[in-house]
Amino acid sequence: MAVRPDTPEFINNLSAQLRDTFGNFLDSQGKVNLRELLPEELEVFFSILGESKYRVGQLMRWIYVRRIFAIDEMTDFSAKLRNRLKLLASIPTLSFTDPKLSLQDTSKFLFTLEDGNMVESVKMRYLEHLGPGRVAVCISSQVGCAMGCQFCASGRAGLVRNLKAWEIVDQALQIQKKIDDLEERVANIVFMGIGEPLHNFDNVLRAVRLLNHGDGFGVGMRHIAISTSGIVPGIYRLAELKYPLKLAISLHATTDKLRSEIMPVNRRWPLEELLQACRTYQQTVGRRITFEYVMLDHVNDSLEDAERLVKMLKGIRSLVNLIPWNAVDHPTFKRSNKERVRQFQERVQSLGLRCTLRREKGSDIDAACGQLRLRRTANNIE
Ligand code: SAH
Ligand code: SF4
Repeated sequence: MAVRPDTPEFINNLSAQLRDTFGNFLDSQGKVNLRELLPEELEVFFSILGESKYRVGQLMRWIYVRRIFAIDEMTDFSAKLRNRLKLLASIPTLSFTDPKLSLQDTSKFLFTLEDGNMVESVKMRYLEHLGPGRVAVCISSQVGCAMGCQFCASGRAGLVRNLKAWEIVDQALQIQKKIDDLEERVANIVFMGIGEPLHNFDNVLRAVRLLNHGDGFGVGMRHIAISTSGIVPGIYRLAELKYPLKLAISLHATTDKLRSEIMPVNRRWPLEELLQACRTYQQTVGRRITFEYVMLDHVNDSLEDAERLVKMLKGIRSLVNLIPWNAVDHPTFKRSNKERVRQFQERVQSLGLRCTLRREKGSDIDAACGQLRLRRTANNIE
């Protein structure tokens, strides 16, 4: 039997209701971007369309489990519903260039956003602690970065814009879709690509919820890590949520003088305030905190630094990750040599703090993409 088409008035009326309800989540054509909505919001969306709530689970399965994004392929939706969805909603995806595959199984994905901006993500295979077939992805949270750390390439041109939640989620989802045939699964997600995640708090948190949801992609909170340069109010907001997320702090210096020089964020939130926020986070969330420390020759890599580091982290259950600096254009910085790194690590360990240094792998892709820092630092998060 032929389906009577919806009248334009009927569709306009629905569209107005949807725009009132989902004003923050419209695409450039004024349609509701379903990739932005959490399950409870999808329920509202479908109820406005006069559909029952089991549609939510169906849609979640198409998008996050089967990774099918074309409304026409969603075969358990009636022709009428599919037609309404096409008129009123969109399910966008990012496009990406095929990754360069490295011999060491680290691949970089370059995503193009709708406005032509680009961000990168990195997929890492064969991390011992993840087990066979399980991969980690390192994703971006912003186009550029406002924080201006001197040793980092991401912030050189400042912040262009925040990524929306779906743009963050889609990096992980598209990588998963790409590796479905290889029977690999994204088991770990680290916010260590381009951008400062706590400077885009709401979108990052929405992305975390979308990635975590049990009816969807289903990556456990414990397997999602947020790395921050030290946006203190963001750390408190995160603590209040009590999600068991991993927190990584980019510390990189043991005195306020040096930290403020190389990381402008420290002028706003100096070390003691940052460490107090870490203590609160740990008391509330209960997880060990990772402190990242990029090794800069004769800048922050002395044995006195190692000793100060241990002293300042006393009372916080922590892991220190030493990161070889991936040279970016800078007039004076050099990466610390192996011997200085070894001595630094030994001193920290001998004073009773866990301190790891990730082996350098994948120099082929480093040469190809010049973005080693993404992989190297993300590799360090357990
Ligand atoms: N903005 C967040 C997360 C992205 S940067 C943050 O700063 O934590 C991820 C990690 O890479 C941070 O620890 C950062 O300090 C480090 N990093 C930045 N530039 C680097 C470089 N050139 N070499 C090695 N690590 C670098
Ligand atoms: Fe931004 Fe992190 Fe780079 Fe600093 S290290 S400029 S916060 S991306």
